[in-house]
Amino acid sequence: MINSIPFNKPHITGKETDYIAEVIRSGKISGDGPYTKKCNLFFEKKYEIKKTLLTPSCTAALEMAAILLNIKEGDEVIVPAYTFVSTVNAFVLRGAKIIFADSNLLNPNIDTDSIESLITAKTKAIVPVHYAGIACDMDKLMVLAVKHNIDIVEDAAQSIESYYKNRALGSIGQLGAFSFHDTKNIISGEGGLLSINDNRFIDRAEIVREKGTNRTSFSRGEVDKYEWIDIGSSFLPSEVTAAFLYAQLENLDMIQLKRKKLWDAYHANLESLHKNGMLERPYIPDFATNNGYMYYILLKSPKERTKLIHHLRNKNISSVFHFLSLHKSPYFKDKYQGAELKNSDRYTDCLLRLPMYYDLGVNEIEFICNEINIFFSTGT
Ligand SMILES: *Cc1c(COP(=O)(O)O)cnc(C)c1O
Repeated sequence: MINSIPFNKPHITGKETDYIAEVIRSGKISGDGPYTKKCNLFFEKKYEIKKTLLTPSCTAALEMAAILLNIKEGDEVIVPAYTFVSTVNAFVLRGAKIIFADSNLLNPNIDTDSIESLITAKTKAIVPVHYAGIACDMDKLMVLAVKHNIDIVEDAAQSIESYYKNRALGSIGQLGAFSFHDTKNIISGEGGLLSINDNRFIDRAEIVREKGTNRTSFSRGEVDKYEWIDIGSSFLPSEVTAAFLYAQLENLDMIQLKRKKLWDAYHANLESLHKNGMLERPYIPDFATNNGYMYYILLKSPKERTKLIHHLRNKNISSVFHFLSLHKSPYFKDKYQGAELKNSDRYTDCLLRLPMYYDLGVNEIEFICNEINIFFSTGT
């Protein structure tokens, strides 16, 4: 008997409360304690990232990136229109002019071939988003970056444990940002991490996240007092968050194994509908891996998508669409001067995400896919 199936359910691995209790007992609850260091080290070692800094969210990590790149009024930043607002807001907050790029025809990632025509003398950064944890074409982006002296900030919010040609996502661009929001694979309620792969940002990043002071240097005994030396903000999560996160990271392999198994179950069960041209399944290029973050399908029209959402809801299955093209958002539409972004609009209108979380069962996926089959066989 299948009860109702939500879209997401946060998975608790078991040690979270023990580690949090330990933090509370220790009397050191603010940021940058032992658990924060353990989490940073985990990412630096496992993903070969030069320096990582835990942040209160991926949004905060992106805001730090914009500060570190010295983005100012009039600088141009190229971002995909099909993304979460934070990818863009971080740069808008610093006065950047946003240049929206379209998605690929075959998946929602930024169309790297369309980028060069968007680059001007004012372009300071490109922010690729690895949608569903599937890598953007990083070699092409890094070549453009070198050629035009532009920095790359990877929005790796969805991309833990995913790779581009054997290199971890978030370890390739000058900077990268991860999310541990409780909809992601590894969670801490709210949480994020800034990855730094270019030495020139490391020292300043430690200052920016400590409200513009050299407190980190001070706590290492490198200076005898800490002072205000740059702009900054509060970009440290508390040890409570870090302790939660560390418990999750210890279970990364198990979580990933399960999520990929669930993803494969969807992929196999929807194969015939794809082959019959009823829907499209995710496309993963040869250079990319899959981290089981999301299973989505593409329908033929928004109308068909709405009908399927209703059909599934009647069976107590929750399915949701995703981003809305940001160049058409209420905040931006009057400012947008670029071309039509057909692929981004298509994902806005036709992409549907199916339930995906650690505690989901393969039997539940079979039930969901069976309902999708019934939807298409009974006429949409
Ligand atoms: C989740 C997400 C974010 C925001 O992450 P927070 O940790 O909630 O700030 C940013 N970009 C993308 C692509 C996301 O999926």
